[in-house]
Amino acid sequence: MAFEPIRKQRQPGIPCNLADYDQAVRDFSWGKARAELDGLPGGRGLNICHEAVDRHAAGPRASRPALRCVARDGAVTEFSYASLRSQTSRFANLLRALRTGKGDRVFSLLGRVPELYVAALGTLKNASVFSPLFPAFGPEPIRERLSLGDGKVLVTSPQLYERKIAPIRDSLPGLEHVLVTGGPPDAKTTGLAEAMAGCGEDFEIPPTDPQDMALLHFTSGTTGRPKGAVHVHEAVVAHHATAAAALDLRPDDVFWCTADPGWVTGTSYGIIAPLAHGLTLMTDAADFEARRWYRMLAEHRVTVWYTAPTAIRMLMRYGPELPASCDLSALRFIASVGEPLNPEAVVWGERALGLPIHDNWWQTETGAIMISNFASMEIRPGSMGRPLPGVTAGLLARGADGRARVTDGKVTEITEPGAEGELALRPGWPSMFRGYLHDDERYAEAFGGGWYLTGDVARRDCDGYYWFVARADDVIKSAGHLVGPFEVESVLLEHPAVAEAGVIGTPDPVAGELVKAFVSVTPGYEASGELRLELIAFGRRRLGAVAPKEIEFDQHLPHTQSGKVMRRVLKARELGLPTADLSTMREAR
Ligand code: AMP
Repeated sequence: MAFEPIRKQRQPGIPCNLADYDQAVRDFSWGKARAELDGLPGGRGLNICHEAVDRHAAGPRASRPALRCVARDGAVTEFSYASLRSQTSRFANLLRALRTGKGDRVFSLLGRVPELYVAALGTLKNASVFSPLFPAFGPEPIRERLSLGDGKVLVTSPQLYERKIAPIRDSLPGLEHVLVTGGPPDAKTTGLAEAMAGCGEDFEIPPTDPQDMALLHFTSGTTGRPKGAVHVHEAVVAHHATAAAALDLRPDDVFWCTADPGWVTGTSYGIIAPLAHGLTLMTDAADFEARRWYRMLAEHRVTVWYTAPTAIRMLMRYGPELPASCDLSALRFIASVGEPLNPEAVVWGERALGLPIHDNWWQTETGAIMISNFASMEIRPGSMGRPLPGVTAGLLARGADGRARVTDGKVTEITEPGAEGELALRPGWPSMFRGYLHDDERYAEAFGGGWYLTGDVARRDCDGYYWFVARADDVIKSAGHLVGPFEVESVLLEHPAVAEAGVIGTPDPVAGELVKAFVSVTPGYEASGELRLELIAFGRRRLGAVAPKEIEFDQHLPHTQSGKVMRRVLKARELGLPTADLSTMREAR
């Protein structure tokens, strides 16, 4: 079914930040975007926390609500910009007292509680590096990331500590301090509240070079360990500019980003960008629940809402009556990211919520939105939109492995409308990742012919709108979360019954993809229903939310010539697609 472009906006009288796309592209420069921020007083550099908190706290917005955290039980904790400055300063002073300074890694493993936001911003204020972990991870992904990222300090809750950190603490000798949000469960942990109470509310941000490392976000590739994408303080220029252009954020907005800060969206747009605009940021500690979410939007008079396709599809299941019974009149703009947004969902938004959903595209490595449907432009349902001002996107011809073909450092750009290619970006925007921590080789492989190669396949229509086609590699997108098949396979292989494993994503109407493992069993074990349940429970225990939901036994897993399990053949079989043409496939990079 073809979907008509959506041209109408609900409040056509209100001008958009980006009123004329072509002119905005012509007029834009990253230098001008930088000039909209302050910089540290005395020309001492650029620090994310100064831009997000301290500069507003020092001006007329000081008493404006900066952060409104809704707890699971509905209780609200609110910080003005002035109080957020004090709290983040206390946290920065605490880090200093713990001899944690510039470049040291501070991790969080927390639900969306106030302490998470204070720790994130206080870490940046101290010029240390903040690395958020997704709290639904199991102990194995947590251990892997803390160890790869050289975690020195961890902020967590007593419950998460006992379930996930205590069992792995001894394998993390570099982890010097564990700060817990409640009473410390053992002598190896420190109570955060008490420690912060002993610290002062004044803190002078140290000189911060815009190129100083600020954030470490883990993402997954097809092979090998997770990749730690390094971002720098200068990224705030892109967070601020793209939030204005793509999310239409303004200082009087009440903004809710439903992403968990354990994933890049929840940090770039769930903490930094909205505060950099001096608006009121909403957060909710609870998980998805349709009634609660509509209530959040209505009661808190949310004006701009940034969410995910899986969430929209879950809301669609509840029908239009629920939103019709809530007062959503404050809502001005809705955007979504993280996975393909089906055209039905875009149109449903307009019918049920009175506003279409604006899809946008980016990834951990890009640090900020790169392609978007804008408030002022028609939406083509199913399209990711057009590149942000300041961003140059292109499509590159692909080789037999599905990735952009790079020959002698050269690539071929595809210009023909409708043709598919690997989506690529010209490096140079401020939130571009500066490396994969401790992995220069994989970083170098992410570039070719002067482009950053995204790993996504897309096409572009004759008006410059980009349309997502598929991932060019084997990574899985489940409910918006990127899952590395290798990480899942490695854990399954630790079970004595598993001889080999191949992990793929299978289509799911709500979550996009579900993680499925094909397993061959070790001689002496029986591929029984009981073993299947045991392996699912084993995966769940070790991996948490990224564990396989389904396990299929197969004693004849397809292999490459060098003996690697061929996930693409498994996937083709699962989808009922021909596999013959894959026999000559080169191994994935
Ligand atoms: P992550 O690094 O976890 O944010 O995942 C980034 C990946 O999510 C991209 O490379 C895409 O494969 C996928 N993705 C993000 N946004 C979209 C979108 N709007 N449409 C389709 N896929 C998307």
